[in-house]
Amino acid sequence: MKARVAVIGAGPSGLAQLRAFQSAAEKGADIPEIVCFEKQANWGGLWNYTWRTGLDQYGEPVHGSMYRYLWSNGPKEGLEFADYSFEEHFGKQIASYPPRAVLFDYIEGRVKKAGVRKWIRFETVVRMVTWNEQTRKFTVTVQDLPKDHCYSEEFDNVIVASGHFSTPNVPEFPGFDRFNGRILHAHDFRDAREFTGKDILIVGTSYSAEDIGSQCWKYGAKSVTNCYRTAPMGFNWPDNWEEKPLLEKVDINTVTFKDGSTKRVDAIILCTGYKHHFPFLPDDLRLRTANRLATADLYKGVAYVHNPALFYLGMQDQWFTFNMFDAQAWWTRDVILGRIELPSGKQEMIADVADRVVREDAGKDAHDAIEYQGDYVKELIAETDYPSFDVDGANEAFFEWKEHKKKGIMEFRNHSYRSVITGTMAPAHHTPWKDALDDSLESYLRTASSVAAE
Ligand code: FAD
Ligand code: NAP
Repeated sequence: MKARVAVIGAGPSGLAQLRAFQSAAEKGADIPEIVCFEKQANWGGLWNYTWRTGLDQYGEPVHGSMYRYLWSNGPKEGLEFADYSFEEHFGKQIASYPPRAVLFDYIEGRVKKAGVRKWIRFETVVRMVTWNEQTRKFTVTVQDLPKDHCYSEEFDNVIVASGHFSTPNVPEFPGFDRFNGRILHAHDFRDAREFTGKDILIVGTSYSAEDIGSQCWKYGAKSVTNCYRTAPMGFNWPDNWEEKPLLEKVDINTVTFKDGSTKRVDAIILCTGYKHHFPFLPDDLRLRTANRLATADLYKGVAYVHNPALFYLGMQDQWFTFNMFDAQAWWTRDVILGRIELPSGKQEMIADVADRVVREDAGKDAHDAIEYQGDYVKELIAETDYPSFDVDGANEAFFEWKEHKKKGIMEFRNHSYRSVITGTMAPAHHTPWKDALDDSLESYLRTASSVAAE
């Protein structure tokens, strides 16, 4: 009987896996039967925007954490697919920080071309995966949500690509139960206009804090205050934005920070990160890791050391995204196709994980972290037929991006970079980011000359 592979999730990681198998088949390989289970009605993962929060129409936790007006927070030149350039998709080079809808279109373009939609069972949520040591097969139990029907099937391999930025980490602070305003986590943030004219408090200092605060500022929040647990973000913020030590307590609408200062706010947005959460996996198969570059228990960052018939994609914290998922997907495919051999002993795989942790911990700063993840991408693609590309060039784009952010946090998205796939320089966007209120694909693809002519 033909081997069977289950892929859980049709976000960028799961789609990379489908494309990897399809590209092997295209070159004549005999590939296993692939079944991808996706709980949403469409592909794209987080990039498939939903207005919903909380539970969806079937009572399932809403996966989406993206919001309206979200633009890429890093240059697209760092994430471009090596086998499908932005120029191939859009027929021209486009500016460097596309909004969500533009990136969704790009992700979709590659898999439409590959013709892999037929492998996906949409609105089908994975409920449980178990491993049978005797048969050496997985049983995957799923629920067809529209039909309200549960069934199980057997697979030789399971690839978990369910993402890890969907289950919010929600701390509580004294007085939250008496706050006279809205308290929400970044996962439930959808539209910055809700906070126009309001004084908002953001808890956290990472990308969600920076970007959701910036969105609210752009769409007219009266003031933004953000508070830090470890260190301030330290950007050159606009006049109506201040950074404070961590929140200590809340009293009606007044928040008190650890330095004793106070501020009256209308809303509190917890940008306090996410949890790796796999409610469909039992103890022996469930990954338990912090959000870091060297994940626990994954040989080469993908094969689960306790059962290497199980793979996880995209579980790292991410500088590199789409092209790193590709590198992982091509590598995983080649293990499954028998082109790459895993070490025979578990200790060797555990030693690989330990070595990755030590090397990540030896890094001093973001520059080292970017190089570390770039080296990881290079390592994986060198072992497969994924088109090699100038990873050092992508690193350079990230280094420049960091500098641009230091120079102007509300201006960094106005910069352009050179594609490491086609060598073409991106044009400047027609409108500075802070003035570009329309984040539609149509608006983004207009050229500066067409805008000037209007
Ligand atoms: P996801 O995109 O999360 O996809 C996982 C898929 O699995 C989803 O479709 C989900 O429905 C499905 N799924 C989950 N559980 C089940 C189940 N039990 N059964 C069936 N299906 C299931 N990256 C960038 O490169 N640039 C950015 O600008 C950027 N912005 C971001 C903004 C936000 C707010 C967040 C949270 C992340 C952002 N990212 C960005 C990072 C993002 O993680 C990746 O771009 C990418 O979406 C990860 O892909 P993934 O496939 O691993 O996970
Ligand atoms: P994150 O990077 O994991 O950061 C979590 C933040 O929460 C950290 O600042 C952390 O502080 C803080 N935190 C956690 N628990 C806390 C507590 N109990 N009290 C106070 N602070 C606490 O999560 P994220 O910022 O949500 O980013 C997740 C992903 O989304 C990233 O990949 C990012 O690139 C992506 N993203 C992209 C965009 C975009 O513009 N395209 C926008 C948003 C998010 P410490 O530093 O003290 O630990």
